Amino acid sequence: MIPLTEALQIVLDSARPLESERVDLADALDRVLAEDIPADMDMPPFDKATVDGYACRRAELAHTLAVIETIPAGVPPSKQIGPDQCAKIMTGAAMPQGANCVIMIEQTETVGDNAIRFTGEQTPDNIFRRAQDIRSGQVVLPRGSRIGPQHVAVLASVGHVRSLVARRPKVAILAGGDELVGPAVRPGPAQIRNSNSSQLVAQLAVMGIEARDCGMVKDVAAEIDRLLKAAIAENDVVLISGGVSVGDFDLVPGVLRQNDVRLLFEKMAVKPGKPTIFGLSRTGYCFGLPGNPVSTFVIFELLVKPFLYRLMGYDYSPVEVEVRLAEAVVRKDTERQSWVPAKLTSATTATPLEYHGSGHILALCEADGLIAMDIGRTSIEKGTPVRVRLL
Ligand code: AMP
Ligand code: MG
Repeated sequence: MIPLTEALQIVLDSARPLESERVDLADALDRVLAEDIPADMDMPPFDKATVDGYACRRAELAHTLAVIETIPAGVPPSKQIGPDQCAKIMTGAAMPQGANCVIMIEQTETVGDNAIRFTGEQTPDNIFRRAQDIRSGQVVLPRGSRIGPQHVAVLASVGHVRSLVARRPKVAILAGGDELVGPAVRPGPAQIRNSNSSQLVAQLAVMGIEARDCGMVKDVAAEIDRLLKAAIAENDVVLISGGVSVGDFDLVPGVLRQNDVRLLFEKMAVKPGKPTIFGLSRTGYCFGLPGNPVSTFVIFELLVKPFLYRLMGYDYSPVEVEVRLAEAVVRKDTERQSWVPAKLTSATTATPLEYHGSGHILALCEADGLIAMDIGRTSIEKGTPVRVRLL
C-alpha cells in the first residue's frame, strides 16, 4: 500500500507527452498549448480614447475649444489638434496628433454652433496608451497553458488562428461486474445500475476529453481479456472500474498481467480508493479503479485527472481554499489518508458531509470539495483550519 503522493509521482513520471497537432481557434477550447504564443503587434495598437468626449490639450481646459472633426472608432483621425481646438472622439477611437487628454462628454457644454467648454474641475487623461497591455513579440501565452475562454480571446487578439496543441488522449472506459446493468434498465434481484461509466465519461468531458465508453464486462477472465485487449490496442489510456480488489471475482489485475501490462502499484493508502491499480502496456496506460462509485470519482480527481493533463503537457494543480471546519471529523481506522467530502457553508467554514461509505455517491452531489485527513490522524476538531480541495 503506497501513499497517494507516491502513487501520484509514479503516474506523473510515467506519462510520456502526446504528440501535437494544429487546431483552429474554434476548436482550441480546453486544449493545452504545445507552443509559445507571441503577440504579433502592440495592444492596444494605438493610443485610444477610453471615454466618449473631446480630445484636446490639457493646458487649454479653461478655454472655449473649436470642434474640428468627429473621430469614430475604426477611422484614423484626419487632422491635428491646433491651439484652442478639439475633436469629438468616441470610445476606442485613435487619438489625434496634438491632443493629450480626452474630456468626457458629460463634463462639457456646447458653445455656439461648433465649440465646447469643459465644465468639470479636473479630468484624468482618459487615454489607453499604445502597448500598455501587450508589446509586439512578447509571449502572451506560454506552452503548457490550458486554453480557457479568456485564452481563446487572447489567441484571437494576436491573430493566432491555428495553434499547436497537444493531441487529446484516447481514453477507453470499461465497467466490470456481473451485477451491472445499464442505466436504462430496471435492475433485477441482486443487480445494480452501472453509474461509473456515465460518471467517468462526464469527468472526462469536463476536461475536454471525449471518452470511448466500451460498455460493461462480466467477471469472466476470458471476457475481460477480450475487451481489455481491444481497449489497450486502440487507446492511450484504459480506465476499468470494478474487479480490481481481492475478491474471488476480482480478475482485472491478473488479466492485465497476462496482457503484459506492468503494474506499478496495486493498492493505495487512500480512503476511499484503496484497490486502485496502475500499469503500463507497451503503448499506453491502464488504471484499474475501485468499483465503488465514490472511490472511482475521488480517485479520478486525485490521480487520473492530473495524469491525463500531464499527458497533454499541462501541470495541473487543484484549487484549494483554507477555511475552518464547522464540525469535527472523527474516525477509528487511521491506516490510510482519507478524503472527506465537504460543503462550503460560509466564506470561512466548511462542513463535512455525512457519508455512509464509498457507495454513497449522492453525498458527493452536495460537496464543494474534499478535505484530506492524514494517515495516523483520528480526528480534526471543530474550528481547525483545513484546506478544501475544490471539485
Ligand atoms: P468491486 O470493486 O468490483 O468489488 O465493486 C465494489 C462495489 O462497487 C460493489 O458494491 C459493486 O457492486 C459496485 N460497483 C462496481 N462497479 C460499479 C459500477 N460500474 N457502477 C456502480 N457501482 C459499481
Ligand atoms: Mg465486482
